Amino acid sequence: MTGAPDAIVIGGGHNGLVAAALLARRGMRPLVLEARNHAGGMLGDAEFPISPMPFALRPEICRALAIDVATRPMETIVASPLNSLSGTLRVSGSRLDGGSPQQAEAFRQLVERLARQAEALSGMLLRAPPRLDGAGPRDLLALAGTGWKLRRLGKVDLRDLLRIALSNVHDLVEDELGLGLPGALLAMEATLGGAMGPRSPGTVLTLLYRMASNGGRRMMPVGGPGALTQALAAAVTRAGGEIRLNAPVERILVEGDRAAGVALSNGEIVRASLVLSSAAPRTTLLDLLGPGHLDAEWVRRCRNMACTGMVARLDFDLLAPPRLAGGEVLEADQRLVVAADAGTVETAFNAAKHGKLPDDPVMEACYDAGSRRLRVSVQFIPHSPRGGWTEANRQMLETSVRRQLGFVLAGFEDSVTASRMMAPADIETAYGIPGGHWHHGELRIDQMLMLRPFDGAAGYRMPVEGLYLCGAGSHPGGDISGAPGFNAANAALAARRH
Ligand SMILES: Cc1cc2nc3c(=O)[nH]c(=O)nc-3n(C[C@H](O)[C@H](O)[C@H](O)COP(=O)(O)OP(=O)(O)OC[C@H]3O[C@@H](n4cnc5c(N)ncnc54)[C@H](O)[C@@H]3O)c2cc1C
Repeated sequence: MTGAPDAIVIGGGHNGLVAAALLARRGMRPLVLEARNHAGGMLGDAEFPISPMPFALRPEICRALAIDVATRPMETIVASPLNSLSGTLRVSGSRLDGGSPQQAEAFRQLVERLARQAEALSGMLLRAPPRLDGAGPRDLLALAGTGWKLRRLGKVDLRDLLRIALSNVHDLVEDELGLGLPGALLAMEATLGGAMGPRSPGTVLTLLYRMASNGGRRMMPVGGPGALTQALAAAVTRAGGEIRLNAPVERILVEGDRAAGVALSNGEIVRASLVLSSAAPRTTLLDLLGPGHLDAEWVRRCRNMACTGMVARLDFDLLAPPRLAGGEVLEADQRLVVAADAGTVETAFNAAKHGKLPDDPVMEACYDAGSRRLRVSVQFIPHSPRGGWTEANRQMLETSVRRQLGFVLAGFEDSVTASRMMAPADIETAYGIPGGHWHHGELRIDQMLMLRPFDGAAGYRMPVEGLYLCGAGSHPGGDISGAPGFNAANAALAARRH
């Protein structure tokens, strides 16, 4: 970059990179400051990608950044650890193979209905959520647009959406699909990354939300997490931005109630009148900005944000590609979900909410043939288990994960040569994300949309002029979507024009 930056982006996770790339393409000179030695944030590094199955970026974002990231659909294999031979289904979108025709038809009908409802909500993802206080013409227009799409759903679907949106995914799948693997999959989709079980209210909404952001189909960037990081980093530098690694920000500088730049932990000062932070809201506001710049009510709400993560990552080095109990190899474009039904997902959550490691954890996994690693995200692992993350607790977690995988993958135990683990507390330490939370803050009804990250703080713009939140803690939340970074950069650009 030639000359001083005119914008600073704190954190080089994918949202920070999306925000910086958009600012650069609109003529600004952003500098991304990343604490770690790699860009991509929780996309992770080549050795240990925290997000082994990144969702694809929204096409609107790829177009705006002029990047072309090829994607491929992922098939999901749902396997029951209780009944390994008969208990396997294959799912692609609304198509389900391996069950009875009745099961496949009920699944198709439910998923297609949910997909229509999700599509009606999808317009809200790529715009700032309407403000509750003093809504302006833009907010009213946004509300009207969503209202119009909802109306177009028709009476039956709209009534159904209003009936189920705030209910829980366990009851929905039990009513519509009965017990079993199809319900297990939807219960996992609704709760993965959060600290809510399938019986928690609002989990149908989180399912719809996820379907809205990925169009109801799992699409994965070809080349995996690393390819996406590279494409985004290249988009930043190609447009004239700069990325600095090993550059932890210690403080956001404020002069006369305006953001004025940042101080790095090595004492260096970098000045700019626009600062976007993709660090978590709590980190940005309480640690980097400091409570002194916020009113007491904001400090209280920020401190009370729910952000305790419940997902652990384990990698297993294998001698040979994993085989399902039926004999087929788990391919690179397949995701394995291990859970018997929505009830077992709830049981795993119940243990974790009391600080216990679940006896029968539920998980999703994929196989990376290049490194010969099975990459596993294990759901409902307490951030602070009773007794802490002792060697014994780590061993207990690994043993239970290996046992579950051993039920659904033939010869798994004999094939493992090494393993690695990141518990939620390790992710917190490594990436500075409070609670190690997948979404930087729970995605639940009182922390969603116009209440995200918390009541009064929606819309990316913070109370100090020139400071914006642009990470997963802001609307519409986590997963690899790029939406928070995109929306925040647009909000900052719009404010500069006025
Ligand atoms: C175990 C686990 C598995 C997951 N698996 C998937 C998956 O398979 N698919 C998927 O789509 N999503 C997955 N996710 C979710 C996804 O990783 C996140 O939602 C997403 O990475 C958030 O992106 P972000 O850019 O907002 O933040 P992050 O990726 O967290 O990036 C924030 C960046 O800011 C940096 N930073 C923080 N503080 C500072 C500071 N003071 N100075 C400088 N830099 C700072 C951090 O080092 C980090 O690089 C997973 C999450 C977890 C925890």
